Amino acid sequence: MPINKKVTILGSGSAGLTAAIYAARANLDPLVIQGLQAGGQLTITTEVENFPGFPEGILGPTLMEEMHKQAERFGTQFIYDNAESVDLSKRPFVIKTSGEEIHTETLLICTGANAKLLGLESEGKLMGHGVSACATCDGFFFRDKKVFVVGGGDTAMEEAMFLTRFASSVTLMHRRDSFRASKIMVDRAMKTPKVDFMLDTVIEDIYDVSKGEVTGMRVKNLKTGKVEEISCDGIFIAIGHQPNTSLFKGQLELTENGYIATEGVKTKIPGVFAAGDVQDEVYKQAVTAAGTGCAAALEAQWFLEKMEAQEGQKKKVSTHELAPAGRGE
Ligand code: NAP
Repeated sequence: MPINKKVTILGSGSAGLTAAIYAARANLDPLVIQGLQAGGQLTITTEVENFPGFPEGILGPTLMEEMHKQAERFGTQFIYDNAESVDLSKRPFVIKTSGEEIHTETLLICTGANAKLLGLESEGKLMGHGVSACATCDGFFFRDKKVFVVGGGDTAMEEAMFLTRFASSVTLMHRRDSFRASKIMVDRAMKTPKVDFMLDTVIEDIYDVSKGEVTGMRVKNLKTGKVEEISCDGIFIAIGHQPNTSLFKGQLELTENGYIATEGVKTKIPGVFAAGDVQDEVYKQAVTAAGTGCAAALEAQWFLEKMEAQEGQKKKVSTHELAPAGRGE
C-alpha cells in the first residue's frame, strides 16, 4: 500500500528540516525522506559560527540533531532511505524508495549537494585510504601525519585549519595564486602556524594504489611547468560541491551548472518546490538554506489551500447542478 501524503520533503539538511518544522506546525503531517547521509552537509562540518542564535558557535552535527528533534516534536515522519525514483508527470507525485512508495500532493526538493572530486583514477581507488573529502569525518585518523588540502575556497581554508588539530603539517594546495575564499578565512589560515601554502599547483597522480594507501603524489606547477613528487600521508579534496539533481533530470529544468531552476522556490511544475543548496548557486549557507526551506513549506501550504478551495468550489457547483429545479440554491 502506498503512503499518501500532502507534503513530502526529500532531504534532511538545513533546508529540509526547516521545511519540515514549518509544514508540521501547519498540521500538514509532512514526511521527510532523509537520504542516507542524513543531516546533509552540516553533519560533516565542525564549528558553525555564523548561524544566528549561537554566539559561541555550534557544531554542525549538533545543530542538525537539534533541528531534527524540533521537526520530530511537531509530528514529522522520517524515512531513513534514499529516494530511488520520482515521477513528477502528474499529481499526486510518486516517489519510490527501496521499501516504500509514496504518493504526495506536494514535493519539496531539499537534496543539497555533494563534494566534487578531482576525477583522477588513483583518487577514486584511494578514497577512504588516505584520500578524503571530509576533514571532520577523517581528520582524527591523521594524527601526526603530513596532509594536503586541495582547494582555494572557504571549505579548503576551514579544513586546513581544522586538520592542524591532528596533523603534524598541513599544506593547502591551490591551482591559482588568488583565493575564492573570503578574506577573513584566508587571513586566519595564513596566520595558523601549521598551515603552509602551495599555489599554482595541481595534482597529477596520487601514490600508491598498489599499497592501498597514500604515500605521496605527483604535482605540477602550472606557472613554471615543474613536475615533482612529494611524500604525504593524506589528501583532503575540498573543491566545492555538485547539486544532487539526478532524480529530476528530464523532469525539471536545471541551470547551466546543474542546479534546479526556480523562481523563488517554485519550479515549473505546480506543487513542486526546491530549497537549499540544490537550487542555490550563490549563497550556499546553512541559514539561507533554512530560509528557503521555510519559504518552500509556506508555498506548499498555500498551494494546498488553493487546491482545496478549488475542489470545494467544484463540489459546490456540482451540488448546485444536481439540486432539484426551482429551489434556487
Ligand atoms: P568553492 O567556493 O566553489 O571553492 C572551490 C575551490 O576549489 C575553488 O578555489 C576552485 O578553484 C577549486 N577547484 C574547483 N575545482 C577544482 C579542480 N578540479 N581542481 C583543483 N581545484 C579546484 O567551494 P567551497 O569552498 O566548498 O565553498 C562553497 C560555498 O560554501 C561558498 O559559498 C563558501 O563561502 C561557503 N562556505 C562558507 C564557510 C564559512 O563561512 N565558514 C565554510 C565553508 C564553505 P578556483 O578558485 O580556481 O575556481
